[in-house]
Amino acid sequence: MTSPVALITGASRGIGRGIALELARAATHDFVINYAGNEAAARECKELCEKASDGKVRVEIVQADVSIAADRARMIDFVKQTFGRLDLLVNNAGVAPNVRADLLDAGEESFDRLISINLKGPYFLTQAAAKLMIESPTLADFQKAIVNVTSISAYTVSTNRGDYCVAKAGLAMMTKLYAVRLAEHGINVFEIQPGVIETDMTGPVKEKYDKLFAEGLTPINRWGKPSDIGKSVIAVAHGHFPYSTGQVFNVDGGFHLHTI
Ligand code: NAP
Repeated sequence: MTSPVALITGASRGIGRGIALELARAATHDFVINYAGNEAAARECKELCEKASDGKVRVEIVQADVSIAADRARMIDFVKQTFGRLDLLVNNAGVAPNVRADLLDAGEESFDRLISINLKGPYFLTQAAAKLMIESPTLADFQKAIVNVTSISAYTVSTNRGDYCVAKAGLAMMTKLYAVRLAEHGINVFEIQPGVIETDMTGPVKEKYDKLFAEGLTPINRWGKPSDIGKSVIAVAHGHFPYSTGQVFNVDGGFHLHTI
């Protein structure tokens, strides 16, 4: 029996790890954990996934910086050589600005970094991955899909990290573009907009958000967990939305709701 295959970018830690663990628990897909530099974390994630799946799925790790073209090509080649197919791509890897700077002061270096990693990387990785997905024979019971992890920052203004907001808004449009282009190939494309999730990325602003949650930031009033995002990816990966594409899922505790 051929198993479907997934590639999750930035899966050594945080949300990506949460997605990998949920996929492992479901034990349906073999998958590749991508990381940028933290090999120890990627190896640990692989071990946890193997345990979570009770050894039922094959898990591999691959180092690649999604902002570098040669790394992207090597990663897709690794998937092809190792598994011979691809059914699910999760564009999760992303970074926050090193320094939160006011819109009137923020520099080009941070802008270029954020656009490269958070937008250009997934844009061209999707291009390459889609070609491999198209040539992979469709498996009964499994929906080929691409999931882009954007953010509430795709539509919420933070004037001290405009670069991040602009990159995520671009990624949201990328979802719509690929949704239309890939529909004829049976590949559905989704956007997940996480709210405030407890990971290394939000570590430096933990106190700020603790205070906001204490003041009632979201209707479901708690920090989000990587597994909250992981579970929504599973719903997509298991084909529960076969007649949807370009769909945005708010996985944010209700942050997006306006009240009066
Ligand atoms: P995180 O804890 O900082 O983890 C980042 C992950 O991305 C790590 O696995 C890291 O690999 C990888 N990575 C970073 N740069 C990369 C690159 N150039 N190429 C490949 N992999 C790279 O971040 P997170 O909070 O889990 O965020 C994951 C995604 O969710 C990001 O796209 C982020 O913008 C988005 N998001 C996060 C939140 C939140 O509240 N945390 C909210 C909304 C959206 P290494 O371990 O090797 O460094």
